[in-house]
Amino acid sequence: MDPIPLVHASLGERELAAVAEVFASGWPAGQGPKGKALEDQLARRYGAGGAVAVSNCGAALHLALLALGVRPGDEVIVADYTFPAPAHAVRYLDAVPVFADVRPGTGTVDPESVADLLGPRTVGVIAVDTVGLPADYAQLRPIVDRHGLFLVEDAACAVGATYQGREAGALAEVACLSFHGRKGATSGEGGALLSTDPAIAADARLRSSFGIGSIFDSSKVVGLPIPEFTEIGYNFKLSDIAAAILTVQVDRIDELLARRNAVAARYAELLADEELLTLPEVPDDRTHAWQTYAVTLDASVDRAAVAADLRGQGIGCGHGTWASHLQPVFEAKQECPVSADLFRRHLAIPMHAELRPDQVERVAERLRAAVRAHVRPQRT
Ligand SMILES: *Cc1c(COP(=O)(O)O)cnc(C)c1O
Repeated sequence: MDPIPLVHASLGERELAAVAEVFASGWPAGQGPKGKALEDQLARRYGAGGAVAVSNCGAALHLALLALGVRPGDEVIVADYTFPAPAHAVRYLDAVPVFADVRPGTGTVDPESVADLLGPRTVGVIAVDTVGLPADYAQLRPIVDRHGLFLVEDAACAVGATYQGREAGALAEVACLSFHGRKGATSGEGGALLSTDPAIAADARLRSSFGIGSIFDSSKVVGLPIPEFTEIGYNFKLSDIAAAILTVQVDRIDELLARRNAVAARYAELLADEELLTLPEVPDDRTHAWQTYAVTLDASVDRAAVAADLRGQGIGCGHGTWASHLQPVFEAKQECPVSADLFRRHLAIPMHAELRPDQVERVAERLRAAVRAHVRPQRT
């Protein structure tokens, strides 16, 4: 039996051809012609005031918080159930991440929990489109507006998803995308910051290149203007090699998502009647990007045993994502019981655009057998 990996990036001939163009151009570094082409493409797709190509989504979050003026000691409310990049970004600025619990069905940040955590030092909120499903922006918007806070959308997993007819990545004044190899569009590593306000994007672009403009641009200027370093910046630029790959991948978002949608629909058909697991909930007003397909196992099922069983048969699986507040680095004294529960019970099963129908059927069949085989004896 062929192994069925949890993830598999869809990179092919078109991406290779785009890379060959960069080799021929002689400019593989960042902020060159391919980087600009990608930024224009992203700004158009998302109707953004500005788009900045950066080395990864962690860097995009860091730049977003810098541009939004977060200062040491400020509190930023972050969605708890996620790859904990938002809380890391808050800590990069010596600010304080405050963890908001999530909704049980969707795993997205619970607006009521956000409202409960507001305090005098709160400056903003980072919502996460959890494993590809947009959060409740219609409920979050009035909360942040009433208190004059910023709202950042971590859309790392959500390329192609929609919320009330709008594109994920355009649901808040600043959004951050990831193009890591496990996301729906990828250049191996990569990311982008999107902003409605061109000034935020310009600030992020400048700080992403040690605080000076594009070296490619200054090499084209007649004369010898020498940029001055006036602030401490970073090197968060995306190479033009990666940007070239992404110009193709961004063009393919809808094609690749259609294939992941078909996989999700088939899993739902095959597993809907299994009482020992709950399928992911997608509210009517939004669509999922299916970065991950996570089922919630019944509390009686031994998840580690199920995972070992599946992996033993060559079927990739994993936990869903992280309960951030439980990660030792944050020394959080808060509780987020819903997030903690999903962290214990979620099981991610293979989801990518290369899965064949027979593989999807095999996963569903083996998963069903494994959960039934690993119900813990009930204590009475
Ligand atoms: C993957 C991920 C990130 C980090 O993305 P990188 O590009 O690897 O830095 C940030 N936030 C969320 C929600 C993610 O899933």
